[in-house]
Amino acid sequence: MLEFLNEMLQKQYGEEIKGKIIDGYKTNRLVTFRVNTLKSSIKEIEEKLEELNIEYKKVSWSKEAFIINNVRENEIQELDIYLQGKIYLQSLSSMLPPIILEPKEGIDILDMAAAPGGKTTQLAALSNNKAHITACEMNNIRIEKLKYNVEKQGASCVYVMKKDSRQIDDFFSFDQILLDAPCSGSGILNFNNKNLNKHFSLELIDKSAKIQLALLRKAIKVLKKNQEMVYSTCSILSKENEEIVSKVMSENKLEIVPIEFEGIDDLPLLPTKIKGTLCVCPNELYEGFFIAKIRKL
Ligand code: SAM
Repeated sequence: MLEFLNEMLQKQYGEEIKGKIIDGYKTNRLVTFRVNTLKSSIKEIEEKLEELNIEYKKVSWSKEAFIINNVRENEIQELDIYLQGKIYLQSLSSMLPPIILEPKEGIDILDMAAAPGGKTTQLAALSNNKAHITACEMNNIRIEKLKYNVEKQGASCVYVMKKDSRQIDDFFSFDQILLDAPCSGSGILNFNNKNLNKHFSLELIDKSAKIQLALLRKAIKVLKKNQEMVYSTCSILSKENEEIVSKVMSENKLEIVPIEFEGIDDLPLLPTKIKGTLCVCPNELYEGFFIAKIRKL
């Protein structure tokens, strides 16, 4: 166990919850995917899985989300439904931010950290390909994955832009924004990985927090008044979550929109320091994830 992480989790959550989080880090998560309703239907995918004897479970909060019991990820990747872009392999927690944003048809949406495009293409599907989505990504290799996935998923309402989102011109304005920020990944650590301490460090947490703050400040600038955005990370550390949100709240006229949806009580939730925000505990089904919905006043 990394000593600095142990101390941070102990301080933030206490002994009992820290234990649950660590158990979550040790489990291997089940394969999950989302049906891409731009290319298929839930019925078609259910019928296909039954035909192939692939066992699945559903969740209470999304009809499109599937949990697979008896098949590994690489086997799913060989199926026609995968190759044709009818399903998208995505963790359950990662499906939550677009659902919480509730993208609308006909409006301008900015996805500020978009690659590889799981949430971008989900936003496109949730808005029936009728929103105008600008998907920004600054990494050269990852932007190619984003373009590939946008094309494969038939997300024709998405415009991919190579850009450091911190540099987006203040002249632009958007009706809805998703900032699924780069982070330390403290919610998705795998304790079975022997190289863990090579990737995960205090420096990474500090560096992530700086970028997150700059990105969230920009998001608030280019969000239209009286409109909403979602800030999310796959970190469960307050330094990358509540502290970033609180800082930007203290600098602007904003309010937290309490996150509520059918099935929220079925999620393994962690306590958060800002009422109305959501933090998911890592376990065999869910990755650790933080989500805040913010309205600009
Ligand atoms: N939203 C993505 C999805 O659901 O597939 C995952 C996004 S991942 C957490 C964060 C992404 O932000 C990475 O691809 C990273 O390259 C990109 N990124 C980091 N800093 C950025 C910046 N300043 N501007 C634009 N993209 C950035």
